[in-house]
Amino acid sequence: MSRSPKRLSLQSSNPKKTDARASGLYIHVPFCASKCPYCDFFSIASADMIAAWCASVCRELDLYRERFERFETVYFGGGTPSLLSAQQLGSLMEHVRTRVRIATDAECTIEVNPDDLSSEKARALRDPGFNRLSIGVQSFDDLLLKFLQRRHTARQARDAFEHAAAAGFENISLDLMYGLPEQDWQAELAQAISLQPGHVSCYQLTIKPGTAFFSMQQEGRLQAASEETLAQLFLLTDSLLAEAGYDHYEVSNYAREPGCEARHNSRYWQHRPYLGLGPAAHSFDGEKRWWNIDSVPDYCSLISSGSLPVAGSEILTPDQLRLERLMLGLRTSRGVAREDVGAGGSTLAQLEREGLITLHSGRIAPTPRGMLFADRLPLLLEDGVADNSAV
Ligand code: SF4
Repeated sequence: MSRSPKRLSLQSSNPKKTDARASGLYIHVPFCASKCPYCDFFSIASADMIAAWCASVCRELDLYRERFERFETVYFGGGTPSLLSAQQLGSLMEHVRTRVRIATDAECTIEVNPDDLSSEKARALRDPGFNRLSIGVQSFDDLLLKFLQRRHTARQARDAFEHAAAAGFENISLDLMYGLPEQDWQAELAQAISLQPGHVSCYQLTIKPGTAFFSMQQEGRLQAASEETLAQLFLLTDSLLAEAGYDHYEVSNYAREPGCEARHNSRYWQHRPYLGLGPAAHSFDGEKRWWNIDSVPDYCSLISSGSLPVAGSEILTPDQLRLERLMLGLRTSRGVAREDVGAGGSTLAQLEREGLITLHSGRIAPTPRGMLFADRLPLLLEDGVADNSAV
């Protein structure tokens, strides 16, 4: 799949009217105060181009108005969206609301870093209609926050949560990370649970090529947790959060009660259409996927010349679509329809005996232990289990 930049002009793109069903809108805010050593998301540690980016992202939405007209979720991700002022975020939301239709009950999420969320900012984010906050806590241990080179303390993370709750946010998600050196994960989870957030996302520390941690690992200065340790931590997370009443509805995501699930991200797992705006953002219209150029200056300059800032695209065949549905669906407790799975009854019975899946009401869903093998399950369900040991 080539990622080389390619200019697509609106005039020649023969826009296809997307299904009138609502889509999800993702806006990638590619600015961070500094670059965290584990992060491979596209972002730049400079605020110089924020104003130009704001103007460009508004223009990009306008370029797509004919194809995507109605949205039921809006998600500002990054990067660090909370680096933008409340006024900049308010203007962006106002532009969105005046140019496209946003469902009256839309979920409107913004990712925030704890050090950006004063009580005033939390209140100001309510005005333009944000109703869900995803707070990048990562850890409640100050030493580990230093190790991760985060700019906030555990105290600031707790304060950010309190400010958000006091401002009236009922739907608050905390992002946490496990698999860190000498981490007391159980204590960290207990701190998160004590705040009673509606939603928790728990990600394992993954050392990705191109990051500072990757270089440290290559030089022998950082050792990643073993697969076995990560598997134990995953299952511990599942059982501690289940005890606290959280539903493990996706590999990394937990909801305290029905309705607290992340509606925007659930669209991805359900393979439903979404439009991504901003540098490096991805979009999907139900059969075609495309992704934007990952350079802020090039993004802005393409938009100002009237071109879509698309770097590459692919049209998925019906079989690819079915396989993707399978891979995404098997990440969730909702699972997939029995008829979408190629494997025969004996394979399903074996995976069920091994405690990896459940079969219920014509659907196949992974158990928590099955989610641990979310990458392998689709292959097993496609090809059948070749030997006695499924994983
Ligand atoms: S983890 Fe978040 S704050 Fe840190 S560099 Fe990545 S996007 Fe920016």
